Amino acid sequence: MKPRRPQANGQHLTEQLGATGLRLTPQRQQVYDVLVQKRDHPTAEEVFIRAKKAMPEISHATVYNCLDALVKSGLARQVNVERGATRFCPNMIEHGHFHCSACGTIYDVGLPQELPCVAVPQGFKPQSYDLTIHGICLDCAKKK
Ligand SMILES: [Zn+2]
Ligand SMILES: [Zn+2]
Repeated sequence: MKPRRPQANGQHLTEQLGATGLRLTPQRQQVYDVLVQKRDHPTAEEVFIRAKKAMPEISHATVYNCLDALVKSGLARQVNVERGATRFCPNMIEHGHFHCSACGTIYDVGLPQELPCVAVPQGFKPQSYDLTIHGICLDCAKKK
């Protein structure tokens, strides 16, 4: 299954949500726009704060429900780094993450097409893999 490149257009959203039996609501559109506008892997709390700027009446519960709907319909995915809050990423192309341990920002990084040389027990069938690199981003490295 090849994930399609996400686009911030209504038709794409309608199709993807529709395939999961969900409707495109203004709130879902808004939450998706927040994710696409600034791809810094915000937490649900951060998405709520940003969504509220454009849609002051949106509630906390609605934002959580919208994120849930976007994840279920393959428009966003959850990213967990260490024990921090779950973050959200609208990039559905296979990619890994670079976690800056100084500022906490998470960046997308490209991944090789093939599973890297990892010894998988015989007979196991890998389907996907997650990769998170921990280190210091350029901005933080310059400050040192
Ligand atoms: Zn940093
Ligand atoms: Zn990402």
